[in-house]
Amino acid sequence: MRELVVLGTASQAPTRYRNHNGYLLRWDDEGILFDPGEGTQRQLLLAGVSPWSFGRICITHLHGDHCLGLPGVVQRLSLDRVTHPVEVLYPSSGQVYIDRLLHAAVFDEHVDVRQRPVAGSGIVDPGPPFALVAKRLDHVPDTLGWRLEEPGGRTMMHDRLEAAGIVGPAVGELQRAGIVDVGGRRVRVEEMSVERPGQVVAFIMDTRLCDAAFELAERADLVVCEATFASAEADLARQYHHLTAAQAGRIAAEAGARRLVISHFSQRYPDETILLDEARSEFDDVIAAHDLLHVPVPSRLGPDLEPGRVS
Ligand SMILES: [Zn+2]
Repeated sequence: MRELVVLGTASQAPTRYRNHNGYLLRWDDEGILFDPGEGTQRQLLLAGVSPWSFGRICITHLHGDHCLGLPGVVQRLSLDRVTHPVEVLYPSSGQVYIDRLLHAAVFDEHVDVRQRPVAGSGIVDPGPPFALVAKRLDHVPDTLGWRLEEPGGRTMMHDRLEAAGIVGPAVGELQRAGIVDVGGRRVRVEEMSVERPGQVVAFIMDTRLCDAAFELAERADLVVCEATFASAEADLARQYHHLTAAQAGRIAAEAGARRLVISHFSQRYPDETILLDEARSEFDDVIAAHDLLHVPVPSRLGPDLEPGRVS
């Protein structure tokens, strides 16, 4: 299962209907919690997300709406005696705030939290199952956007395997070795499979329009992007180093992305319809996030594949 679980959608100030930021990406057996704003612990509960389901917490920057939920989340993990280590990744210049957030109140520390300060743009973890890439965005303070890149692979075509008489353990051997001998004939994996592009998810907030935002979103299956303001407030967006919804749409369109989720809305828009409309003026597949929304990563597409075909 690969999906985004939206935990909160408010920027600086929460509203009656929007919790502060918070996003969980489910990626098969892995989970990444992005930007746990205030109240994330309870939002996880309401979304039905177990504290056991994520091993990484990625923080874009140390403004409160992106990190004030960290103490509650970490203390909850400790309370639940989560046994796996949890990495916390963040811009290294925010170290003093991370130190405080991780020790904001008295608690019995039973969770193995591993701090991963990130100094700037680059590959933070080569994987598998995916590479985790950080890129410096244009915000104040230091802010990192995140990108998950799954390496490409091959999808075995069952009809071709059957026709060639390759069954049982021979299939695994073909996948491992790239060749297999069947019935006196040597078969190469390329004959029995098609290329399978890896999936990509990008997480972009907070920032002005900048090259890094386009690079993060490049051909991504799913882009989660801030859209704090409408175009009428473009000057404010620029002044406070934020994006308009139309700019978020432009990033997705020019980067060749497949699906865009906009979020991080200013409290001045109780109804996000105007933001959705403005983003849709630039890009077709846009979803305006609301709290507790689940958004699937679009089905994988390949050159000869229909969505959902065997893999
Ligand atoms: Zn923010």
